[in-house]
Amino acid sequence: MKIICIGRNYVDHAKELNNPLPKEPMFFMKPDSALLRNNAPFFYPDFSKDIHYETELVVRICKVGKAIREKFAHTYYDAVCLGIDFTARDLQQVCKDKGHPWEIAKAFDGAAPISKFLSLAEIGDPQNLELRLDINGKTVQKGNTADMIFKIDRLISHVSQFLTLKTGDLIYTGTPAGVGPVKINDHLEGWIGERKMLSFDIK
Ligand code: ZN
Repeated sequence: MKIICIGRNYVDHAKELNNPLPKEPMFFMKPDSALLRNNAPFFYPDFSKDIHYETELVVRICKVGKAIREKFAHTYYDAVCLGIDFTARDLQQVCKDKGHPWEIAKAFDGAAPISKFLSLAEIGDPQNLELRLDINGKTVQKGNTADMIFKIDRLISHVSQFLTLKTGDLIYTGTPAGVGPVKINDHLEGWIGERKMLSFDIK
């Protein structure tokens, strides 16, 4: 399976990183070796001194599709979860400055923690979900999927113009504002509405 991650999909996050607003969705990828499941701890890598959290709604693709039309896109995913797009912000800045690919800043082991999945029947409207991250009991990031620049159906349509989507592929749909650093011994709790989805430690 593959993990597709959308960049700059919330206006206030693009602004906080001084990025222009995209005219089309932009995406990058993480390998399956980046996944962290079952609230396993995240081990802070020694190649970075500035690992940031990005709290995102993740959608799970449920059938094979290519060049999917936006109006049919909702039939291509069946569940969502909460994910953290861990980013080595210091390495990413070097990549951006040099025009290099982002993989060392985004695709490393453990860079994609995900929660258990919720079916669409359980969550209601996926474009009206409150996302929240608490660190050591304090809320550090909050957003609502209603504020996505490009909605989920558009993202699926766009990505599938370039890549065949397969069952089990995941799409991280971008982070709202409020990204920031984690440090060793932090405890992270992620929420979708009132549901606690993630609860894990930085080690
Ligand atoms: Zn992200």
